[in-house]
Amino acid sequence: MSIVAPSPATLSTAEVQRILQHPIDGPCSLCRVLPNGDGKHSGCWLCPAPEYGTILFRRLDASKHFLRTPPAIAFEAAVLVGVLELVVWVVVVDRETNTVFLATPDAFCDEGFEVERGHGFQLALPLGCWHEIRVEQE
Ligand SMILES: [Zn+2]
Repeated sequence: MSIVAPSPATLSTAEVQRILQHPIDGPCSLCRVLPNGDGKHSGCWLCPAPEYGTILFRRLDASKHFLRTPPAIAFEAAVLVGVLELVVWVVVVDRETNTVFLATPDAFCDEGFEVERGHGFQLALPLGCWHEIRVEQE
């Protein structure tokens, strides 16, 4: 696996490599499923791996799951309750492009906004607040 270049460059490649010790092709053995508001699988996992700090990990399809206006990644608000306080990074993997999006929980506090578009109450973070990392699988 090689990292093409983190963007923006404020995040070092070394830090990205540290975070991406976590597999991006799915949950690891330490990952715990986070239920959504209905008690079903939310598509998010909480991973307490000490090497890179606790992360919220999620795989999705950008074409289906990203907000378009404004461009943003939204989470069911209920899934994030009590979770953002625990994690050092939110890691979203777009299955369609193998792109990894990294955001800090602080970004959600500072730039996150609420949306309600027929999928329940959601908290969204604009795409510009994410570090975007293209990964090439070897
Ligand atoms: Zn994990």
